[in-house]
Amino acid sequence: AKAKGRGQLALFDRALDAKVQQRRRTEQDLRVALLEGGLRVHYQPVIDIATGRTTAYEALVRWDHPERGMLPPDEFLAIAEETGLIVPLGEFVIRQALTEMAGWKGNFRLSINLSPSQIRSVDLLPTIADALAATGFDPSRIEFEITEHVILQADSSATATLDRLRASGIKIALDDFGTGYSSLSYLRRFPFDRIKIDRSFVKDLTTSASSRAIVSTVIALGRSLGMQVTAEGIEDRAQLQILGELGCDEAQGYLILEPLAASELDRVRAGLGAD
Ligand code: C2E
Ligand code: CA
Ligand code: CA
Ligand code: CA
Repeated sequence: AKAKGRGQLALFDRALDAKVQQRRRTEQDLRVALLEGGLRVHYQPVIDIATGRTTAYEALVRWDHPERGMLPPDEFLAIAEETGLIVPLGEFVIRQALTEMAGWKGNFRLSINLSPSQIRSVDLLPTIADALAATGFDPSRIEFEITEHVILQADSSATATLDRLRASGIKIALDDFGTGYSSLSYLRRFPFDRIKIDRSFVKDLTTSASSRAIVSTVIALGRSLGMQVTAEGIEDRAQLQILGELGCDEAQGYLILEPLAASELDRVRAGLGAD
């Protein structure tokens, strides 16, 4: 039994080694991708539920990996965050999104996700200022999306950064609303322009009365605080219908369109009424 235990331990060690190695490999590959242009930005439209008009595009990072294909953020964002690579990655996304969207006609917002360490980075404000100057993009059309982790980990300098962004006309949205421990208290701590209701509440909107009650309450709450409300992860017509009835402002999800490269989006944009 002892020998067997040792054997299992060795096996466990090897599995751990493999995992550590895999992470190291991903980190190295990501450094190369950042230097050599292996990252992409995809865009997902957000619509006004009442009119169907496209009001925004959310920038979502992708990694065009030479061997593994187009990777979603789940595959590399945690490692990027741990290693600090999230800062240059985030700078790439800001520059690329503003550059790609600057030439597009229409009065849409551009939504960009910011992680906790990006907000803490001293490079964030200069990066944004440079990208605005280089592209001529109107700051009041930019909205940064942050989760409550950002607020949770925010020191006074992070809060000052958010205040500076808002002072320049940039909007701030609270992303993934409802998934954390004390979302409500965050609404008091920072004057968000928008609440994004997490997909998990939208998912069983048609089958669960409690999900419907929660979503309805969040919409009413947003309204009374003067915040817009966007629901994410809409996959079918029934969900969109209910959200409209509950008075939700905007919707985003595969039902409307999946995230696409700017070139692909250009081809379907005519049909979305983006003007
Ligand atoms: P998120 O900000 O909540 O973004 C929405 C996610 O839901 C996206 O996943 C999007 O592709 C997916 N989605 C959209 N509509 C539907 C739908 O109808 N059904 C389902 N099942 N999913 C839908 P994605 O692109 O894999 O991004 C995952 C997360 O990674 C994002 O969640 C965001 O937190 C983070 N992320 C993405 N891009 C960036 C970035 O440039 N910077 C930072 N810091 N984080 C990013
Ligand atoms: Ca988001
Ligand atoms: Ca979200
Ligand atoms: Ca999310």
